[in-house]
Amino acid sequence: MAKQNKLKIIPLGGLGEIGKNITVHEYKDSIVIVDCGMTFPEDEMLGVDIVIPDISYLIRNKEKIKGLVLTHGHEDHIGAIPYVLKKIDMPIYGTKLTLGLLNNKLKEHNLQNVQMHDVTYGEKLKLGHFDVEFIRVTHSIPDSAAIALTSPVGTVIQTGDFKVDFTPISGDKMDLNRLAELGNKGVLALLSDSTNVTRPGFTMSESTVGDTFRNLFHMAEGRIIVATFASNVHRVQQIIDAAELNERKVVLSGRSMVNVITVAADLGYLKFKEGTIIDINDMNKYRKDQLAIITTGSQGEPMSALTRIASNEHRKIELMHDDLVIISASPIPGNEKTVSRVVNNLLEQGIKVIYESLAEIHVSGHACQEELKLMHSLVKPKFFIPVHGEARHLKMHADISADLGTPRENIFIMENGQVLEMTKNTAALGASVPSGHILVDGLGVGDVGNIVLRDRKHLSEDGLIVVVVTMDKDKGKVASGPDIVSRGFVYVRESEDLMDEARKVVKQTLESCEEKKIRDWSAIKSNIRDDLRTFLYTTIKRNPMILPIIMEV
Ligand SMILES: [Zn+2]
Ligand SMILES: [Zn+2]
Repeated sequence: MAKQNKLKIIPLGGLGEIGKNITVHEYKDSIVIVDCGMTFPEDEMLGVDIVIPDISYLIRNKEKIKGLVLTHGHEDHIGAIPYVLKKIDMPIYGTKLTLGLLNNKLKEHNLQNVQMHDVTYGEKLKLGHFDVEFIRVTHSIPDSAAIALTSPVGTVIQTGDFKVDFTPISGDKMDLNRLAELGNKGVLALLSDSTNVTRPGFTMSESTVGDTFRNLFHMAEGRIIVATFASNVHRVQQIIDAAELNERKVVLSGRSMVNVITVAADLGYLKFKEGTIIDINDMNKYRKDQLAIITTGSQGEPMSALTRIASNEHRKIELMHDDLVIISASPIPGNEKTVSRVVNNLLEQGIKVIYESLAEIHVSGHACQEELKLMHSLVKPKFFIPVHGEARHLKMHADISADLGTPRENIFIMENGQVLEMTKNTAALGASVPSGHILVDGLGVGDVGNIVLRDRKHLSEDGLIVVVVTMDKDKGKVASGPDIVSRGFVYVRESEDLMDEARKVVKQTLESCEEKKIRDWSAIKSNIRDDLRTFLYTTIKRNPMILPIIMEV
Protein backbone atom coordinates (compact mmCIF):
# COMPACT_ATOMS: atom_id res chain seq x y z
CA MET A 1 0.00 0.00 0.00
CA ALA A 2 1.24 3.46 -0.84
CA LYS A 3 2.38 5.61 2.00
CA GLN A 4 -0.56 7.62 3.28
CA ASN A 5 -0.18 11.36 3.37
CA LYS A 6 -0.54 12.61 6.88
CA LEU A 7 -1.74 15.86 8.32
CA LYS A 8 0.72 17.30 10.80
CA ILE A 9 -0.33 19.64 13.59
CA ILE A 10 2.63 21.35 15.25
CA PRO A 11 2.13 23.89 18.03
CA LEU A 12 5.28 26.05 18.09
CA GLY A 13 4.00 28.07 21.05
CA GLY A 14 1.06 28.50 23.39
CA LEU A 15 1.25 25.14 25.15
CA GLY A 16 2.43 24.95 28.74
CA GLU A 17 2.15 28.72 28.79
CA ILE A 18 -0.36 31.45 28.13
CA GLY A 19 1.20 33.48 25.36
CA LYS A 20 3.00 33.34 22.00
CA ASN A 21 0.34 31.25 20.32
CA ILE A 22 1.33 29.77 16.99
CA THR A 23 0.19 26.49 15.41
CA VAL A 24 1.40 24.94 12.18
CA HIS A 25 -0.91 22.79 10.03
CA GLU A 26 0.99 20.89 7.36
CA TYR A 27 -0.22 18.58 4.60
CA LYS A 28 2.07 17.52 1.77
CA ASP A 29 3.57 20.71 0.31
CA SER A 30 1.22 23.05 2.16
CA ILE A 31 1.65 24.80 5.48
CA VAL A 32 -0.97 27.07 6.99
CA ILE A 33 -0.06 28.86 10.21
CA VAL A 34 -2.69 29.88 12.75
CA ASP A 35 -1.68 32.96 14.82
CA CYS A 36 1.79 34.25 15.58
CA GLY A 37 1.87 35.79 19.02
CA MET A 38 4.32 37.09 21.56
CA THR A 39 4.54 36.83 25.29
CA PHE A 40 5.88 39.09 27.98
CA PRO A 41 9.17 38.17 29.61
CA GLU A 42 9.34 36.53 33.01
CA ASP A 43 10.90 38.30 35.96
CA GLU A 44 14.25 36.64 35.49
CA MET A 45 14.54 37.77 31.87
CA LEU A 46 16.09 41.10 32.81
CA GLY A 47 15.92 43.86 30.26
CA VAL A 48 14.07 41.72 27.74
CA ASP A 49 11.11 43.50 26.18
CA ILE A 50 9.17 40.69 24.59
CA VAL A 51 9.47 36.99 23.85
CA ILE A 52 8.59 35.46 20.48
CA PRO A 53 8.41 31.82 19.35
CA ASP A 54 11.29 29.99 17.71
CA ILE A 55 10.31 29.72 14.04
CA SER A 56 13.33 27.90 12.67
CA TYR A 57 11.02 25.08 11.51
CA LEU A 58 9.07 27.57 9.41
CA ILE A 59 12.19 29.17 8.01
CA ARG A 60 13.37 25.72 6.93
CA ASN A 61 10.03 25.02 5.26
CA LYS A 62 9.48 28.52 3.92
CA GLU A 63 8.43 27.47 0.42
CA LYS A 64 5.56 25.37 1.79
CA ILE A 65 3.90 28.27 3.63
CA LYS A 66 0.62 29.25 1.97
CA GLY A 67 -0.48 31.78 4.54
CA LEU A 68 -0.87 32.96 8.11
CA VAL A 69 -4.46 33.11 9.39
CA LEU A 70 -5.31 35.11 12.48
CA THR A 71 -8.01 34.37 15.05
CA HIS A 72 -8.03 37.85 16.63
CA GLY A 73 -5.99 40.95 17.38
CA HIS A 74 -4.56 40.25 20.84
CA GLU A 75 -0.80 40.49 21.33
CA ASP A 76 -0.48 36.82 22.26
CA HIS A 77 -1.82 36.03 18.76
CA ILE A 78 -0.36 38.74 16.50
CA GLY A 79 2.52 40.27 18.50
CA ALA A 80 5.38 38.35 16.89
CA ILE A 81 4.31 38.99 13.29
CA PRO A 82 6.58 41.99 12.61
CA TYR A 83 9.62 39.98 13.71
CA VAL A 84 8.61 36.89 11.76
CA LEU A 85 7.86 38.89 8.59
CA LYS A 86 11.45 40.08 8.58
CA LYS A 87 12.42 36.41 8.06
CA ILE A 88 9.47 35.04 6.10
CA ASP A 89 7.31 36.87 3.61
CA MET A 90 3.82 35.39 3.55
CA PRO A 91 0.22 36.44 2.94
CA ILE A 92 -1.79 37.18 6.08
CA TYR A 93 -5.53 36.56 6.47
CA GLY A 94 -7.74 38.04 9.16
CA THR A 95 -10.91 39.94 9.94
CA LYS A 96 -11.06 43.69 9.56
CA LEU A 97 -10.23 44.83 13.10
CA THR A 98 -7.49 42.22 13.51
CA LEU A 99 -5.77 43.47 10.35
CA GLY A 100 -6.34 47.10 11.41
CA LEU A 101 -4.49 46.50 14.67
CA LEU A 102 -1.78 44.52 12.89
CA ASN A 103 -1.34 47.29 10.38
CA ASN A 104 -0.61 49.75 13.20
CA LYS A 105 2.06 47.41 14.46
CA LEU A 106 3.63 46.95 11.03
CA LYS A 107 3.83 50.72 10.61
CA GLU A 108 5.79 51.01 13.86
CA HIS A 109 8.26 48.50 12.41
CA ASN A 110 8.36 50.24 9.05
CA LEU A 111 7.15 47.15 7.25
CA GLN A 112 5.56 47.91 3.92
CA ASN A 113 4.00 45.88 1.13
CA VAL A 114 2.78 43.15 3.43
CA GLN A 115 0.13 41.04 1.71
CA MET A 116 -2.93 41.36 3.95
CA HIS A 117 -6.30 39.91 3.05
CA ASP A 118 -9.50 40.98 4.75
CA VAL A 119 -11.64 37.91 5.38
CA THR A 120 -15.36 37.79 6.12
CA TYR A 121 -16.98 35.10 8.23
CA GLY A 122 -18.16 32.11 6.22
CA GLU A 123 -15.95 32.90 3.25
CA LYS A 124 -13.90 29.88 2.10
CA LEU A 125 -10.22 30.39 1.38
CA LYS A 126 -8.15 27.95 -0.60
CA LEU A 127 -4.62 27.86 0.82
CA GLY A 128 -2.71 25.04 -0.86
CA HIS A 129 -4.31 21.76 0.19
CA PHE A 130 -6.34 23.49 2.89
CA ASP A 131 -9.79 25.01 2.75
CA VAL A 132 -9.91 27.61 5.47
CA GLU A 133 -13.03 29.13 6.99
CA PHE A 134 -13.45 31.83 9.64
CA ILE A 135 -16.30 31.29 12.13
CA ARG A 136 -17.48 34.12 14.37
CA VAL A 137 -16.81 33.71 18.10
CA THR A 138 -17.20 36.13 21.00
CA HIS A 139 -14.19 37.24 23.04
CA SER A 140 -12.88 40.38 24.76
CA ILE A 141 -11.98 41.95 21.42
CA PRO A 142 -14.39 42.32 18.48
CA ASP A 143 -13.96 40.40 15.23
CA SER A 144 -12.64 37.19 16.81
CA ALA A 145 -12.80 33.95 14.90
CA ALA A 146 -12.49 30.22 15.22
CA ILE A 147 -10.74 28.67 12.23
CA ALA A 148 -11.81 25.50 10.42
CA LEU A 149 -9.06 23.96 8.29
CA THR A 150 -10.13 21.18 5.95
CA SER A 151 -7.51 19.02 4.24
CA PRO A 152 -8.00 15.64 2.51
CA VAL A 153 -7.48 14.06 5.95
CA GLY A 154 -10.40 15.88 7.56
CA THR A 155 -11.53 19.08 9.25
CA VAL A 156 -9.63 20.55 12.17
CA ILE A 157 -11.19 23.35 14.22
CA GLN A 158 -9.11 25.76 16.21
CA THR A 159 -11.40 27.76 18.51
CA GLY A 160 -9.04 30.68 19.05
CA ASP A 161 -9.82 32.56 22.26
CA PHE A 162 -13.53 32.56 22.98
CA LYS A 163 -16.34 32.79 25.45
CA VAL A 164 -19.99 32.17 24.67
CA ASP A 165 -21.59 35.60 25.10
CA PHE A 166 -25.28 35.44 24.29
CA THR A 167 -25.70 39.21 24.67
CA PRO A 168 -22.55 40.69 23.15
CA ILE A 169 -22.21 44.47 23.09
CA SER A 170 -21.97 44.67 19.31
CA GLY A 171 -24.94 42.32 18.84
CA ASP A 172 -22.79 40.02 16.70
CA LYS A 173 -23.37 36.60 18.19
CA MET A 174 -21.09 33.62 18.12
CA ASP A 175 -21.88 31.34 15.17
CA LEU A 176 -22.82 28.25 17.17
CA ASN A 177 -24.87 27.01 14.20
CA ARG A 178 -21.88 26.75 11.92
CA LEU A 179 -19.86 24.92 14.57
CA ALA A 180 -22.73 22.46 14.99
CA GLU A 181 -23.01 22.03 11.22
CA LEU A 182 -19.33 21.16 10.93
CA GLY A 183 -19.72 18.88 13.94
CA ASN A 184 -22.47 16.98 12.18
CA LYS A 185 -20.39 16.57 9.06
CA GLY A 186 -17.57 15.18 11.18
CA VAL A 187 -14.62 16.95 12.74
CA LEU A 188 -11.28 15.20 12.94
CA ALA A 189 -9.73 17.32 15.68
CA LEU A 190 -10.54 20.22 17.98
CA LEU A 191 -7.95 22.56 19.45
CA SER A 192 -9.71 24.52 22.17
CA ASP A 193 -8.93 27.49 24.48
CA SER A 194 -8.09 26.29 28.01
CA THR A 195 -7.46 29.61 29.79
CA ASN A 196 -10.49 29.49 32.13
CA VAL A 197 -10.91 25.73 32.35
CA THR A 198 -10.44 25.78 36.11
CA ARG A 199 -13.54 27.93 36.58
CA PRO A 200 -16.90 26.19 36.84
CA GLY A 201 -20.06 27.53 35.25
CA PHE A 202 -20.34 30.23 32.60
CA THR A 203 -18.42 33.46 32.07
CA MET A 204 -20.73 36.44 32.53
CA SER A 205 -21.71 38.45 29.49
CA GLU A 206 -19.72 41.58 28.77
CA SER A 207 -22.97 43.56 28.99
CA THR A 208 -23.26 42.93 32.75
CA VAL A 209 -20.34 45.29 33.29
CA GLY A 210 -22.29 48.17 31.75
CA ASP A 211 -24.77 48.38 34.66
CA THR A 212 -21.97 48.76 37.18
CA PHE A 213 -20.37 51.51 35.12
CA ARG A 214 -23.64 53.40 34.78
CA ASN A 215 -24.16 53.30 38.56
CA LEU A 216 -20.61 54.35 39.39
CA PHE A 217 -20.64 57.15 36.84
CA HIS A 218 -23.97 58.36 38.17
CA MET A 219 -22.73 58.56 41.74
CA ALA A 220 -19.24 60.00 41.28
CA GLU A 221 -18.77 63.67 42.09
CA GLY A 222 -15.26 64.21 40.80
CA ARG A 223 -13.42 62.87 37.80
CA ILE A 224 -13.53 59.22 36.89
CA ILE A 225 -10.37 57.46 35.77
CA VAL A 226 -10.90 53.99 34.29
CA ALA A 227 -7.99 51.71 33.47
CA THR A 228 -8.61 48.84 31.09
CA PHE A 229 -7.05 46.97 28.17
CA ALA A 230 -6.97 49.14 25.07
CA SER A 231 -7.94 46.16 22.93
CA ASN A 232 -11.11 45.54 24.93
CA VAL A 233 -13.10 47.70 22.54
CA HIS A 234 -16.45 46.59 23.96
CA ARG A 235 -15.36 47.61 27.45
CA VAL A 236 -14.24 50.99 26.17
CA GLN A 237 -17.59 51.32 24.39
CA GLN A 238 -19.43 50.72 27.66
CA ILE A 239 -17.29 53.28 29.46
CA ILE A 240 -17.99 55.82 26.72
CA ASP A 241 -21.71 54.99 26.89
CA ALA A 242 -21.76 55.55 30.65
CA ALA A 243 -19.89 58.83 30.18
CA GLU A 244 -22.29 60.10 27.55
CA LEU A 245 -25.27 59.13 29.68
CA ASN A 246 -23.88 61.24 32.51
CA GLU A 247 -22.76 64.10 30.30
CA ARG A 248 -19.09 63.54 30.77
CA LYS A 249 -16.41 64.11 28.15
CA VAL A 250 -13.90 61.33 27.57
CA VAL A 251 -10.12 61.76 27.55
CA LEU A 252 -7.86 58.97 26.30
CA SER A 253 -4.52 58.47 28.00
CA GLY A 254 -1.69 56.11 27.10
CA ARG A 255 -0.18 55.48 23.69
CA SER A 256 -1.76 52.09 23.04
CA MET A 257 -5.16 53.36 24.22
CA VAL A 258 -5.06 56.22 21.73
CA ASN A 259 -3.75 53.95 18.93
CA VAL A 260 -6.21 51.11 19.36
CA ILE A 261 -9.22 53.34 19.92
CA THR A 262 -8.36 55.38 16.85
CA VAL A 263 -8.18 52.24 14.69
CA ALA A 264 -11.37 50.80 16.19
CA ALA A 265 -13.28 54.06 15.73
CA ASP A 266 -12.03 54.51 12.15
CA LEU A 267 -13.21 51.01 11.26
CA GLY A 268 -16.59 51.55 12.86
CA TYR A 269 -16.19 49.33 15.92
CA LEU A 270 -16.79 52.16 18.39
CA LYS A 271 -19.72 54.52 18.40
CA PHE A 272 -19.91 57.86 20.16
CA LYS A 273 -21.31 61.33 19.62
CA GLU A 274 -19.17 63.94 18.01
CA GLY A 275 -17.36 65.90 20.70
CA THR A 276 -17.52 63.15 23.33
CA ILE A 277 -13.82 62.37 23.05
CA ILE A 278 -11.75 65.46 23.75
CA ASP A 279 -8.06 66.19 23.58
CA ILE A 280 -6.14 65.77 26.80
CA ASN A 281 -5.03 69.40 26.54
CA ASP A 282 -8.64 70.61 26.66
CA MET A 283 -9.39 68.96 30.00
CA ASN A 284 -9.18 72.20 31.95
CA LYS A 285 -12.08 73.65 29.98
CA TYR A 286 -14.43 71.32 31.85
CA ARG A 287 -15.53 70.84 35.44
CA LYS A 288 -14.24 67.71 37.10
CA ASP A 289 -17.71 66.14 37.17
CA GLN A 290 -17.78 66.52 33.39
CA LEU A 291 -14.74 64.33 32.80
CA ALA A 292 -13.91 60.66 32.45
CA ILE A 293 -10.41 59.45 31.59
CA ILE A 294 -9.81 56.08 29.96
CA THR A 295 -6.26 54.95 30.48
CA THR A 296 -3.83 52.09 30.02
CA GLY A 297 -2.08 50.53 32.98
CA SER A 298 -4.66 48.06 34.29
CA GLN A 299 -1.78 45.66 34.93
CA GLY A 300 0.25 48.19 36.87
CA GLU A 301 2.89 48.25 34.13
CA PRO A 302 5.70 50.52 35.39
CA MET A 303 5.71 52.91 32.43
CA SER A 304 1.95 52.98 31.86
CA ALA A 305 -0.27 56.02 32.17
CA LEU A 306 -2.10 54.86 35.31
CA THR A 307 1.13 54.08 37.15
CA ARG A 308 2.44 57.53 36.26
CA ILE A 309 -0.81 59.18 37.34
CA ALA A 310 -0.73 57.29 40.65
CA SER A 311 2.83 58.36 41.38
CA ASN A 312 2.18 61.94 40.25
CA GLU A 313 4.57 61.64 37.35
CA HIS A 314 2.05 62.08 34.57
CA ARG A 315 2.74 65.23 32.58
CA LYS A 316 -0.88 66.09 31.85
CA ILE A 317 -3.00 64.43 34.53
CA GLU A 318 -2.62 65.41 38.16
CA LEU A 319 -4.53 63.49 40.82
CA MET A 320 -7.40 65.28 42.57
CA HIS A 321 -8.65 64.29 46.03
CA ASP A 322 -12.14 63.35 44.80
CA ASP A 323 -11.04 61.32 41.75
CA LEU A 324 -12.57 57.87 41.44
CA VAL A 325 -10.20 55.30 39.94
CA ILE A 326 -11.69 52.13 38.47
CA ILE A 327 -9.43 49.26 37.43
CA SER A 328 -11.54 47.34 34.95
CA ALA A 329 -9.43 44.23 34.44
CA SER A 330 -8.09 41.42 36.52
CA PRO A 331 -4.36 41.01 36.96
CA ILE A 332 -2.83 38.55 34.54
CA PRO A 333 -1.09 35.91 36.67
CA GLY A 334 2.27 37.36 37.62
CA ASN A 335 1.06 40.97 37.62
CA GLU A 336 -0.66 40.87 41.02
CA LYS A 337 2.23 42.68 42.68
CA THR A 338 2.46 45.58 40.27
CA VAL A 339 -1.31 46.07 40.33
CA SER A 340 -1.50 46.13 44.11
CA ARG A 341 1.41 48.55 44.21
CA VAL A 342 -0.59 51.02 42.11
CA VAL A 343 -3.76 50.46 44.13
CA ASN A 344 -1.90 51.00 47.41
CA ASN A 345 -0.22 54.08 46.06
CA LEU A 346 -3.60 55.60 45.20
CA LEU A 347 -5.27 54.60 48.47
CA GLU A 348 -2.42 56.08 50.48
CA GLN A 349 -3.16 59.42 48.82
CA GLY A 350 -6.80 59.16 49.84
CA ILE A 351 -8.05 58.38 46.33
CA LYS A 352 -11.07 56.10 46.03
CA VAL A 353 -10.22 52.97 44.04
CA ILE A 354 -12.56 50.30 42.76
CA TYR A 355 -11.07 47.07 41.52
CA GLU A 356 -12.40 43.68 40.57
CA SER A 357 -13.11 42.19 43.96
CA LEU A 358 -15.14 45.26 45.03
CA ALA A 359 -17.65 45.48 42.17
CA GLU A 360 -18.58 43.86 38.89
CA ILE A 361 -16.38 46.00 36.72
CA HIS A 362 -14.71 43.20 34.81
CA VAL A 363 -15.64 39.91 33.17
CA SER A 364 -13.27 37.50 31.51
CA GLY A 365 -13.02 37.00 27.76
CA HIS A 366 -12.50 33.26 28.05
CA ALA A 367 -14.91 30.35 28.34
CA CYS A 368 -15.53 28.62 31.67
CA GLN A 369 -16.20 24.90 32.03
CA GLU A 370 -19.80 24.81 30.82
CA GLU A 371 -19.00 26.84 27.70
CA LEU A 372 -16.06 24.55 26.94
CA LYS A 373 -18.41 21.58 27.23
CA LEU A 374 -20.84 23.31 24.87
CA MET A 375 -18.07 23.78 22.30
CA HIS A 376 -17.15 20.13 22.64
CA SER A 377 -20.71 18.92 22.28
CA LEU A 378 -21.30 20.98 19.15
CA VAL A 379 -18.06 20.08 17.39
CA LYS A 380 -17.94 16.40 18.50
CA PRO A 381 -14.28 15.95 17.51
CA LYS A 382 -12.70 12.55 17.05
CA PHE A 383 -9.42 13.80 18.53
CA PHE A 384 -8.97 16.52 21.11
CA ILE A 385 -5.98 18.78 21.81
CA PRO A 386 -6.33 21.34 24.61
CA VAL A 387 -4.35 24.52 23.83
CA HIS A 388 -3.83 28.08 25.17
CA GLY A 389 -2.94 27.09 28.71
CA GLU A 390 -0.35 26.05 31.22
CA ALA A 391 0.15 22.37 31.96
CA ARG A 392 -2.52 22.38 34.70
CA HIS A 393 -5.07 23.93 32.33
CA LEU A 394 -4.34 21.46 29.55
CA LYS A 395 -4.64 18.49 31.92
CA MET A 396 -7.96 19.67 33.31
CA HIS A 397 -9.35 20.36 29.84
CA ALA A 398 -8.29 16.84 28.80
CA ASP A 399 -10.20 15.44 31.78
CA ILE A 400 -13.32 17.38 30.81
CA SER A 401 -13.08 16.00 27.28
CA ALA A 402 -12.76 12.47 28.66
CA ASP A 403 -15.81 13.03 30.89
CA LEU A 404 -17.72 14.01 27.78
CA GLY A 405 -16.87 10.67 26.21
CA THR A 406 -13.68 11.23 24.21
CA PRO A 407 -11.56 8.06 24.51
CA ARG A 408 -8.38 8.82 26.48
CA GLU A 409 -6.20 7.58 23.62
CA ASN A 410 -7.79 10.24 21.40
CA ILE A 411 -6.77 13.10 23.67
CA PHE A 412 -3.31 14.63 23.22
CA ILE A 413 -1.76 16.90 25.79
CA MET A 414 1.00 18.28 23.61
CA GLU A 415 4.12 20.31 24.18
CA ASN A 416 5.49 23.08 22.01
CA GLY A 417 7.40 21.56 19.09
CA GLN A 418 5.71 18.17 19.22
CA VAL A 419 4.27 16.89 15.94
CA LEU A 420 0.89 15.22 15.88
CA GLU A 421 0.53 13.09 12.74
CA MET A 422 -3.00 12.33 11.69
CA THR A 423 -4.79 10.23 9.14
CA LYS A 424 -8.57 10.00 8.74
CA ASN A 425 -8.73 7.54 11.62
CA THR A 426 -5.51 7.74 13.54
CA ALA A 427 -3.37 10.21 15.40
CA ALA A 428 0.07 9.71 16.89
CA LEU A 429 2.89 11.84 18.18
CA GLY A 430 5.91 11.86 15.86
CA ALA A 431 9.37 13.39 16.21
CA SER A 432 9.63 16.93 17.58
CA VAL A 433 10.78 20.04 15.74
CA PRO A 434 12.72 22.95 17.28
CA SER A 435 10.62 25.21 19.46
CA GLY A 436 11.29 27.54 22.33
CA HIS A 437 11.63 31.24 22.76
CA ILE A 438 13.55 34.05 21.15
CA LEU A 439 14.14 37.08 23.34
CA VAL A 440 13.66 40.52 21.86
CA ASP A 441 15.61 43.28 23.50
CA GLY A 442 14.86 46.69 22.03
CA LEU A 443 15.47 46.25 18.34
CA GLY A 444 17.66 43.17 18.64
CA VAL A 445 16.02 39.84 17.98
CA GLY A 446 17.58 36.72 19.40
CA ASP A 447 20.89 38.32 20.34
CA VAL A 448 20.12 37.97 24.02
CA GLY A 449 20.91 34.40 24.96
CA ASN A 450 21.23 32.57 28.24
CA ILE A 451 24.72 33.91 28.89
CA VAL A 452 23.59 37.50 28.48
CA LEU A 453 20.68 36.86 30.82
CA ARG A 454 22.96 35.25 33.37
CA ASP A 455 25.22 38.31 33.21
CA ARG A 456 22.28 40.67 33.68
CA LYS A 457 21.07 38.71 36.66
CA HIS A 458 24.54 38.73 38.13
CA LEU A 459 24.88 42.48 37.56
CA SER A 460 21.48 43.24 39.03
CA GLU A 461 22.21 41.29 42.18
CA ASP A 462 25.86 41.99 42.89
CA GLY A 463 26.97 44.88 40.71
CA LEU A 464 30.13 45.33 38.75
CA ILE A 465 33.79 46.02 39.44
CA VAL A 466 36.10 47.17 36.67
CA VAL A 467 39.85 46.86 37.17
CA VAL A 468 41.95 48.92 34.79
CA VAL A 469 45.68 48.27 34.46
CA THR A 470 48.07 49.77 31.93
CA MET A 471 50.88 47.42 31.00
CA ASP A 472 54.07 47.89 29.12
CA LYS A 473 53.89 45.36 26.30
CA ASP A 474 57.61 44.88 25.85
CA LYS A 475 58.68 44.67 29.48
CA GLY A 476 55.55 42.92 30.68
CA LYS A 477 55.41 45.37 33.59
CA VAL A 478 52.69 47.52 35.05
CA ALA A 479 52.93 51.05 33.68
CA SER A 480 50.13 52.51 35.74
CA GLY A 481 47.23 51.40 37.92
CA PRO A 482 45.52 49.30 38.96
CA ASP A 483 42.47 51.52 39.14
CA ILE A 484 39.22 50.16 40.41
CA VAL A 485 35.79 51.42 39.46
CA SER A 486 32.60 49.95 40.88
CA ARG A 487 28.94 50.22 39.86
CA GLY A 488 25.95 48.93 41.77
CA PHE A 489 28.22 47.22 44.25
CA VAL A 490 29.25 49.44 47.13
CA TYR A 491 29.12 53.17 47.52
CA VAL A 492 32.78 54.00 47.02
CA ARG A 493 33.08 56.97 49.33
CA GLU A 494 31.90 54.90 52.27
CA SER A 495 34.00 51.95 51.27
CA GLU A 496 37.24 53.65 50.50
CA ASP A 497 39.10 51.21 52.74
CA LEU A 498 37.64 48.26 50.95
CA MET A 499 38.62 49.68 47.58
CA ASP A 500 42.14 50.35 48.84
CA GLU A 501 42.40 46.78 50.03
CA ALA A 502 41.08 45.55 46.68
CA ARG A 503 43.66 47.60 44.85
CA LYS A 504 46.39 46.03 47.00
CA VAL A 505 45.10 42.57 46.19
CA VAL A 506 45.28 43.30 42.47
CA LYS A 507 48.75 44.78 42.86
CA GLN A 508 49.95 41.59 44.54
CA THR A 509 48.43 39.53 41.78
CA LEU A 510 50.22 41.59 39.16
CA GLU A 511 53.50 41.28 41.01
CA SER A 512 53.22 37.54 41.28
CA CYS A 513 52.38 37.33 37.58
CA GLU A 514 55.49 39.33 36.84
CA GLU A 515 57.59 37.02 39.01
CA LYS A 516 56.18 33.99 37.27
CA LYS A 517 56.80 35.68 33.92
CA ILE A 518 53.19 35.39 32.88
CA ARG A 519 52.88 37.57 29.77
CA ASP A 520 49.57 36.33 28.41
CA TRP A 521 46.97 39.05 29.00
CA SER A 522 44.08 36.66 29.40
CA ALA A 523 45.98 34.63 31.99
CA ILE A 524 46.72 37.82 33.92
CA LYS A 525 43.07 38.82 33.73
CA SER A 526 41.88 35.51 35.04
CA ASN A 527 44.36 35.72 37.92
CA ILE A 528 43.04 39.17 38.81
CA ARG A 529 39.50 37.92 38.67
CA ASP A 530 40.16 34.89 40.87
CA ASP A 531 42.12 36.74 43.54
CA LEU A 532 39.74 39.66 43.73
CA ARG A 533 36.71 37.40 43.86
CA THR A 534 38.21 35.42 46.76
CA PHE A 535 39.11 38.63 48.59
CA LEU A 536 35.66 40.21 48.17
CA TYR A 537 33.83 37.09 49.07
CA THR A 538 35.83 36.45 52.23
CA THR A 539 35.65 40.08 53.40
CA ILE A 540 32.06 41.10 52.56
CA LYS A 541 30.35 37.96 51.22
CA ARG A 542 29.55 39.62 47.92
CA ASN A 543 30.19 38.35 44.45
CA PRO A 544 30.15 41.20 41.93
CA MET A 545 30.95 40.71 38.29
CA ILE A 546 34.67 41.51 37.84
CA LEU A 547 35.85 42.95 34.58
CA PRO A 548 39.65 43.33 34.27
CA ILE A 549 40.78 45.60 31.46
CA ILE A 550 44.41 45.70 30.39
CA MET A 551 45.59 48.60 28.30
CA GLU A 552 48.83 48.30 26.41
CA VAL A 553 51.44 50.99 26.03
ZN1 LIG B 1 -4.94 34.51 23.73
ZN1 LIG C 1 -7.43 36.85 23.20
